[in-house]
Amino acid sequence: MARYTGSVCRQCRREGQKLFLKGDRCYTDKCALTKRHTAPGMNARARRKQSEYGIQLREKQKVRRAYGVLESQFRKYYDKATNMKGVTGENMLSLLELRLDNVAYRLNFGDSRPMARQMVTHGHLLVNGKKVDIASYSVKVGDVISVREKSRDLEYFKALRESGAAHAVPKWLELDADKLQGKVVALPQRDDIDLTIEEHLIVEFYSR
Ligand code: SF4
Repeated sequence: MARYTGSVCRQCRREGQKLFLKGDRCYTDKCALTKRHTAPGMNARARRKQSEYGIQLREKQKVRRAYGVLESQFRKYYDKATNMKGVTGENMLSLLELRLDNVAYRLNFGDSRPMARQMVTHGHLLVNGKKVDIASYSVKVGDVISVREKSRDLEYFKALRESGAAHAVPKWLELDADKLQGKVVALPQRDDIDLTIEEHLIVEFYSR
């Protein structure tokens, strides 16, 4: 299945929630969801009340789109989460958070997940000193993620270094903005995830 290449703002409008796919723009009045709070499509206003299945489906699609994961891969995260100890929905979110593209986003090595994914796939990042260009690569506690020497002169990274400590990161990560380096210091917990998600709906969707 091909990756979605249409308007990313359309995805937010479809899910009725900001998925923060366009970086700084998402925090301004230019955000498409701020301007038009309706789902795309001519009959959006006339959309009928959603069924239980529809609500579960939308929640699954929302999270999948926020993390930029294809259906088959998303399903694999769910399957893996069911085989882990603990709460399946929380395990699944933790696995998604540990993706290298997401970690790069959380460390501000990209101002949106799509941009962070590009930073990874274009080979700008290292994990424990070795180039890793696989967006879905799963990091572990103790891993160090850094910007490749050759890429440090990119305007984006220069600005990040200059703004330094202004960039907050979740408590499971540490960022040394000056060194353009981050470390995974713990596993992500449920309350580290800022997006409004009802993960039990996703578990119900796949358990049908
Ligand atoms: Fe979503 Fe950002 Fe577009 Fe707003 S600007 S609709 S948050 S991608």
